Amino acid sequence: MKPMSPPRRAFLKAGVASLAAGLAGCGSMARGPAGARVAIVGGGYAGATAARYLRLLDPSIEVVLVEPNEAFVSCPLSNMVLGGFRTMADITTPYDGLAKRGVRIVRDIATAIDMEKREVRLSRGDPVAFDRVIVSPGIDFIWSELPAMGEAGAQARVLHAWKAGPQTSQLRRQLEAMPDGGVFVISIPEAPFRCPPGPYERACQVAAYFKARKPRSKVLILDANADVLSKGPLFKRAWAELYAGLIEYRPNSKAIDVDVRTSTVKLEFGDVSGDVLNVLPPMRAAAIAAPFITVNARWCEVDWLSHESRAERGAHILGDALQIAPAMPKSGSMANGHGKNCAAAVASLLRGAQPNPSPTLVNTCYSMVSEKLAVHVASVHKYDPKERTMRAVPGAGGVSAAMNEREGIYAMDWAHNIWADALS
Ligand SMILES: Cc1cc2nc3c(=O)[nH]c(=O)nc-3n(C[C@H](O)[C@H](O)[C@H](O)COP(=O)(O)OP(=O)(O)OC[C@H]3O[C@@H](n4cnc5c(N)ncnc54)[C@H](O)[C@@H]3O)c2cc1C
Repeated sequence: MKPMSPPRRAFLKAGVASLAAGLAGCGSMARGPAGARVAIVGGGYAGATAARYLRLLDPSIEVVLVEPNEAFVSCPLSNMVLGGFRTMADITTPYDGLAKRGVRIVRDIATAIDMEKREVRLSRGDPVAFDRVIVSPGIDFIWSELPAMGEAGAQARVLHAWKAGPQTSQLRRQLEAMPDGGVFVISIPEAPFRCPPGPYERACQVAAYFKARKPRSKVLILDANADVLSKGPLFKRAWAELYAGLIEYRPNSKAIDVDVRTSTVKLEFGDVSGDVLNVLPPMRAAAIAAPFITVNARWCEVDWLSHESRAERGAHILGDALQIAPAMPKSGSMANGHGKNCAAAVASLLRGAQPNPSPTLVNTCYSMVSEKLAVHVASVHKYDPKERTMRAVPGAGGVSAAMNEREGIYAMDWAHNIWADALS
């Protein structure tokens, strides 16, 4: 890709300017580092937010977003597509809003990030040169931990639907095709993985569908962990009160392989067969983030003040690809916060200023336990300069007292607000 023409000066709204000052901590936002270019790999919750906020904070920065998908498809609310309460169109947002902000969107796959040449290489187009790169590609799956899933055709039959998109629709079709009296098996890997409450919410959504349309059917949760990882008492109450006899929960049930032919999940102790299998493999930072992985061959550590990689200066890592700080979930809400903090830090660094020395992150995660009822968990995380990590603030946040319809309304508002915050 050739260097771009000088970007147009855009009007910086007063509200954004004050946010910029608050986020960046030091210096004024009046002068931009004219001509600086930031490449962003991945336009999900983290990357799209970073792209939008970089342009809001300093319109003189050229922002190039590399993303293969035509539109943003949200994982949050995608379980409701499985329940039959939302459509794919409801969870899809075009990238036009970012384009209107002056983000250059390159619809391609990044194949390598060359930190020496400072360029992102693409599968089809010319490389994108950058001054700084933001790497926000989400997760990939560790298929080698389920060996038979590497065989031809296996991944097309046993779905994860853990990246919202075609697999979400395919899994819904498998549920629709399943006869009444069938068994839906969802297999959960050991933590950490994308969205700790997500699998339990999915069980609720599938059970809601069965209750209405296939009441003799069953949801079987095979959890590699010792207990429900998030909002445990709230989920267990929903299972008992809304779906008695429909949902069975089995902790300490780690999948070690899958027999696709017999539709069986192989566990350390015994096997479990089902009519529709939904196997979530263990996860790691997506492949393009490999040069920045520093923990267990899976996750990327960063300096929390700037999101700069601990492996490479000039590369900033966001979202689910990160090695999380203590008590920090891998969530869209967090990824959105990473995107804002990182945009502010990059804007500061590009003009020679220091990032905010005291960043904060807020997480709110709703789970829809039926068509209308929801529960939430919330937390606040603040930078601890001694430990150089983010720490959950004691007493801030918490969980719902009980599932309720009001929170179901809040959950929909949360989704629409965060999509606007990342993509409009
Ligand atoms: C079923 C489900 C329900 C969830 N519910 C919630 C919820 O209610 N609330 C919540 O806060 N979180 C929820 N989450 C978690 C949330 O979806 C993730 O934490 C969030 O998407 C992480 O954002 P990200 O930007 O890191 O990754 P993503 O949003 O996955 O974005 C990554 C992007 O990078 C792109 N990409 C990957 N590789 C490349 C490459 N080589 N080149 C270019 N682009 C690339 C991908 O196409 C993708 O668009 C849920 C997740 C699931 C699966």
